[in-house]
Amino acid sequence: MSVDEPVIDVLFSEAEIAARVETLAGEIAGAQNGELLIVVILKGSFVFAADLIRALDRAGVAPQVDFMTLSSYGVGTRSSGVVRLTRDLSEDVGDRHILIVDDILESGRTLAAARDMMLDRGAASVLTCLLLDKAEKRVLPIEADFKGFVIGDRFVVGYGLDLAHRFRGLPYIGVVRQD
Ligand code: 5GP
Ligand code: MG
Repeated sequence: MSVDEPVIDVLFSEAEIAARVETLAGEIAGAQNGELLIVVILKGSFVFAADLIRALDRAGVAPQVDFMTLSSYGVGTRSSGVVRLTRDLSEDVGDRHILIVDDILESGRTLAAARDMMLDRGAASVLTCLLLDKAEKRVLPIEADFKGFVIGDRFVVGYGLDLAHRFRGLPYIGVVRQD
């Protein structure tokens, strides 16, 4: 490892994440009220979504899946506050039962934007599943129906999450050491 290679401390291990995803899938299976269309918010949640749909399959749920890209971050660690739709779904969400899957609930702007978009387009119902919840950072009054882990105000990477396009492939969720 070179001297300027960042050190990443593990916050949630691969095994901890796998166990939590399995539990979440069971909770979603129990709450399901019709055929689900999972709306994955890219890019950060693609790894989580891939594990979640396989856990849902084990729980007896076979959802359809579609993707949209919402972006509120530049390349840094601070949100710009403006949510932009940079890639839309290919499916029509009218009269569908939607489960939005996203990586992190922070201010709530991204999730609120995605949820409002689904409702504006006539979704029959909208549930939300978030891998991580930074509860103390909330700006809008929105909560996830299903959440993986609650974390404090720290910038996390790995398991799909990046810092300036790096670290998405780490199998664990970690914090970049600042020293
Ligand atoms: P919100 O719109 O709720 O303020 O921000 C949520 C979005 O910001 C997440 O979907 C995620 O893309 C990004 N984000 C928030 N916190 C972090 C973090 O700690 N690490 C990374 N990689 N992305 C984050
Ligand atoms: Mg995101």
